[in-house]
Amino acid sequence: MNHTHETSVTQRKTSTGPLRSDALVFFGASGDLAYKKIFPALQGMVKRGTLTMPIIGVAKSGWGIEQLRARARASITEYGGGVDESAFGKLLQLLQYIDGDYQDLSTYTQLRKALGSAARPAHYLAIPPSVFQTVTEGIQKSGCASNARVILEKPFGRDLASAQALNGTLRAVFPESRIFRIDHYLGKEAVENLLFFRFANTFLEPIWNRNYVQSVQITMAEKFGVAGRGKMYDELGAIRDVVQNHLLQVIAFLAMEPPTMMYHESLRDEQVKVFRMIPPLEPADLVRGQFRGYTREPGVAPDSQVETFAAVRLCVDSWRWADVPFLIRAGKCLPVTATEVLVKLKKPPLSKLTSADNAFRFRLGPELAISLRARVKRPGPEMVSMPADLSVVKKTTSDEMDAYERLLTDAINGDPMLFVRQDAVEAAWTIVDPILGNATPLHLYEQGTWGPKEADGMAADVEGWHNPDIGV
Ligand code: NDP
Repeated sequence: MNHTHETSVTQRKTSTGPLRSDALVFFGASGDLAYKKIFPALQGMVKRGTLTMPIIGVAKSGWGIEQLRARARASITEYGGGVDESAFGKLLQLLQYIDGDYQDLSTYTQLRKALGSAARPAHYLAIPPSVFQTVTEGIQKSGCASNARVILEKPFGRDLASAQALNGTLRAVFPESRIFRIDHYLGKEAVENLLFFRFANTFLEPIWNRNYVQSVQITMAEKFGVAGRGKMYDELGAIRDVVQNHLLQVIAFLAMEPPTMMYHESLRDEQVKVFRMIPPLEPADLVRGQFRGYTREPGVAPDSQVETFAAVRLCVDSWRWADVPFLIRAGKCLPVTATEVLVKLKKPPLSKLTSADNAFRFRLGPELAISLRARVKRPGPEMVSMPADLSVVKKTTSDEMDAYERLLTDAINGDPMLFVRQDAVEAAWTIVDPILGNATPLHLYEQGTWGPKEADGMAADVEGWHNPDIGV
């Protein structure tokens, strides 16, 4: 019996849990995702002892193993907090490389050979979705798909129809139970803390509903622009890049009913239930903006109508949340880089003593913080109140890399809880499909501001947008 005071929000594993993968293959070993996220995660896993299996990188760059090793070292130096020589040495022993064209079946026969006795590989598709079909077919034809898992990254399609087509490609080779869709927000400590703060405490549940909550706001602000990835961003825009996935997932965690402890799919069931209670958005629910100068970025079309800012107002049509506005704002070239949730409570009576700023603030990045904005008496002879922040958590380390390490470890272990199920992908696209493209006008905004002023009206009845500050 476990006598510790640690609890889990939902049951993570059953006694007859899935078998671990016995090799990790990553396609796109020469790419950006591998450089920024995968190598650092691999070193972390080796260091923790969770990765002891063969690791095979595949790319068509004309490299050899030495170049891959050098790339891994450079990646971990730049993005992994530095090389840990002991763990890195072990990683190099596990690392193999296959150079080959994805169109060429011999690439996959080489892979099958390199897998040796491994019978349950996990294939990470760190490649553009346009190559998924070629690669999954190659994996299948070469016999590498049997008992294998596949791991892929958002975006899962560009809209509902393409998400379904992408899924068709994957499902031709892998059953849903072996598809692991990464939205790294679900692996972020701060996002998971939303669940724990909600469901591991008694005091919140009685007020976490339409009777006490006035509004919910999420702001994902980025001080930087497209950071050299103009071509990629210009194919996405803010709604496809972060609203349809990361920020709707945050809404799901904020709005969901408690998952049952008895069934390991229950968290994902509750997630999708929230999405299905959000009516599809209409153009009137959206304000789109573009920072001045965006169209001069390399890779961006000179007449681009793609939004670098989106403000959205939605509702969760349920007994718990009906009539509570949920506002989402995401943008580039804003004054700070920070992601925050503000759950505002309704104004209490006795207006002389109080004002309307009782709120929970969840800072999801770059640091983790949870605080409660309360009111106390201002010292002195007058009977007036002043705000006081009760800080619940303050943690200043970045968890971005940890999210990838965490999710890769879970995928290898076959634990699907923190991965996006296809029904959730489709339900989330159903919400945003009507507002994609040029459904609404595009308003220019100055860099370093909070976006176009047209967005202000959207939050007028909830005392305006909450602007996150620079640090916790
Ligand atoms: P890259 O553009 O860096 O491509 C990855 C690799 O795929 C390249 O190194 C190249 O490898 C191969 N490749 C690229 N284009 C083609 C093509 N047309 N045909 C065959 N091979 C090709 O992508 P990223 O690493 O940035 O992204 C990989 C996946 O992860 C994508 O699905 C992306 O949407 C997703 N993603 C990426 C993030 C990031 O931070 N980069 C964040 C979130 C998701 P080679 O030619 O050497 O074989």
